[in-house]
Order: sequence, then structure tokens, then C-alpha cells
Amino acid sequence: MPNSSKEVHNRTYKAEDFFGSLVPGRECGECTVCCVELKIDTPEIAKEPGIPCEYKTDTGCGIYETRFPVCRGWHCIWKYADDMPDEARPDRLGVMFGLAQQQEPDNVFEVCYIHAVAFGGSEALENDVTIEQLNNITRTNLPIWAATSTDAKYLIHPKEEIAQVILEPEKQHKFTHKIAAKYWTTGLKKNEISFKTRIGAIFKD
Ligand code: SF4
Ligand code: SF4
Repeated sequence: MPNSSKEVHNRTYKAEDFFGSLVPGRECGECTVCCVELKIDTPEIAKEPGIPCEYKTDTGCGIYETRFPVCRGWHCIWKYADDMPDEARPDRLGVMFGLAQQQEPDNVFEVCYIHAVAFGGSEALENDVTIEQLNNITRTNLPIWAATSTDAKYLIHPKEEIAQVILEPEKQHKFTHKIAAKYWTTGLKKNEISFKTRIGAIFKD
């Protein structure tokens, strides 16, 4: 993916900005997936992704009452999205959806995105419940990257042809892909605007 210079993004994005508040009463229960799968890099605690936190126990956080600010402030998307069913809790689904961002993104799709981590293997990305959650998340218009614990992340939304229009606008692209790309970059949601409005947005520049 082409990139002539790296931009630094200092803005911090929050899951609340896209998913609203936490679902009342929705608890992590026995799930401790984020205590293993996330990279943490703060003065109080630091660990690499895929490595269990030293305070994690079989039943949850061993220092729950005094856990660190970074732990109190981060929640996976399952904690926010009330349309996600119980079986989509990360330890049950095999996939953890989280809001992520790169301080020095390689491209626009890394500025703020959904990171879907299939920590037990990529099969979990293909089951029906996961696909349903992915479809629902596309309503936010956020890019979605999928990864396993060991593999690099891959952009799975928007689809490649549309991503290429955005990354390489000077090249030849199908008209329908250009429409879709413009529609994606304007952040307009498919079900909320008419086709006429969409076309208007495409040609307004
Ligand atoms: S992955 Fe989600 S449900 Fe699991 S412990 Fe972390 S915040 Fe809770
Ligand atoms: S301190 Fe507790 S909540 Fe924070 S990562 Fe470790 S086990 Fe999880």
C-alpha cells in the first residue's frame, strides 16, 4: 500500500464514540481474553499481545479492585454493542472485537479501526455468529482488520477493490467501486440516505 510519508495522529478514539455507552449489567464473567491478547504499554504495566498478564488468574483479574487505569478504561465491543448476543462474548466466540488505532498509520485504514482477533485460530472468523457481528459492525463505517494471535492483520472491510480506490485514486477503477469508495469515505450510512443523495455526495468535489 503506497505511503509517501507517515502522519502522526494524536487524537485518541474511544469505543463510546461509535457504539455508545456500555450495555448495563453486561459483565466480563469468566472471560479474560483482553488480559492475554492486548498489547499494553503504560508506566504501570506492559506486556506483549498473546502473553497473559502476570495478574491474570483462572477466574479473572487477581487485582481487580486495584487494577490499573488502562484496564478500567478498555472494553471490547461486546461490552458496548447490545445487539451482540451472549455467545459473542470473546471467550465463547473465539474472536475479540476491539477499537484500535495506530499513532503512525501506514494508511487511512489504520487511523481508527476495529481489530477482530481470532485468538484460537482463523476458523472462528468464519462461523455464522462472527459473520453476523462483522456485518453489524460495518454499520459504524469503521475499517475492520482481522488477525489471529500469530498472523499479521488483514483488512477485511472495506473490500479490496474499494480500498484500492481510496489508496490509489489516480489509477483506473470501476465506476461502481468509485461510488462505493466515495460513499465509504464520506461516512454516510447505506440505509440512512437515498441513492440520489449518495450520488450527490460523490460528485460534489
Ligand atoms: S475481552 Fe471483553 S468480555 Fe473479555 S474480559 Fe476483556 S472486556 Fe471483558
Ligand atoms: S491487571 Fe488485571 S485487568 Fe489488567 S490486564 Fe492484568 S489481569 Fe487484566
